[in-house]
Amino acid sequence: MRYAKIRKMDISNGPGVRVSIFMQGCAFHCPNCFNPETHDFQGGNEFNEQTIQKVLFLAESDNIVGLSILGGEPMHPANIEGTCALSKAFKEKYPAKSIWSWTGYQYEDLKDKEVLQYIDVLVDGLYKDELHDFRLKWRGSSNQRVIDVAASLKENKIVLFTE
Ligand code: SF4
Repeated sequence: MRYAKIRKMDISNGPGVRVSIFMQGCAFHCPNCFNPETHDFQGGNEFNEQTIQKVLFLAESDNIVGLSILGGEPMHPANIEGTCALSKAFKEKYPAKSIWSWTGYQYEDLKDKEVLQYIDVLVDGLYKDELHDFRLKWRGSSNQRVIDVAASLKENKIVLFTE
């Protein structure tokens, strides 16, 4: 598994100041994807235990309110194990900090996966250029949903995130 880049302080992807990691590799190829350089599964850098430790280290400051996991496709079968290991380690170390993740899959495809135990907010669904609206918060097209994962798992239905 590989990742494209890590941002030490990201204010664009989720609320507050966050560490973000962009996983490498996506098979969806949505037209006008915001991040086409992350599609190649052979690109980027090796994702390993050192990567996890680096993210944990960068998130130590009280100014960092959480971790954002984007792509590429963090939930692709080639990437989901690493995404899960990172999310688990992050939540164990920082239970009060949130994890947000963006995926082209649907919540319904992922709700039984271990990784969702650790993710607070999932922005799901493919980016659809014809539904793009720059006024949308945290998502690029109106078909995508900003989902409160814990509430959705508890109530066994989609509960949207509200600030
Ligand atoms: S799922 Fe995301 S990264 Fe993959 S092609 Fe679509 S917008 Fe790009």
